[in-house]
Amino acid sequence: MVPTSKGGLFFALGFDVHPLVEGRKLYLGGVEIPYSKGALGHSDGDVLLHSIIDASLSAGGLPDIGTLFPDTDPKYKDIRSTKLLEEAITLLKRKNFTYYQVDLTLVLDEPRISHYYQRIKAELSVLLGIPPERIGLKARRSEGVIFQSERPAIASFALVVLEKIHNDVTL
Ligand code: MG
Repeated sequence: MVPTSKGGLFFALGFDVHPLVEGRKLYLGGVEIPYSKGALGHSDGDVLLHSIIDASLSAGGLPDIGTLFPDTDPKYKDIRSTKLLEEAITLLKRKNFTYYQVDLTLVLDEPRISHYYQRIKAELSVLLGIPPERIGLKARRSEGVIFQSERPAIASFALVVLEKIHNDVTL
């Protein structure tokens, strides 16, 4: 989206997907979910945060997550995605962006996570600086159509709405 000098709301979509494998911890929205498998990835594989970060960067007119935090850089090996989000927020704040609303949809067949919704939303509320009421979070099963049982995975779609809080003379 093209920034204007008048501020306003800026929105973008983000998507991410990671395989679920044994021997990894499962993080969603910065919260560790007790489970026998976790997301395989260069970082901690927090698919929810990765989709939020990518949508946020896009809404803010910044390079994407793979450009800013390349998975070939040892600096980001096993890094917590909350750190990546903090870095992204720092870049967004420099352009006078703040969060207004996020809406999230997870796609997974395992584990069941609905009883973690409130905890994840509480964590995201702190990380993003918006009330839980402005965070939509739901999950849908892939019904084996998207992810086969022998190759489980977890995907996340994020819609992020940023507010540009005042004029940015650097634009
Ligand atoms: Mg990712």
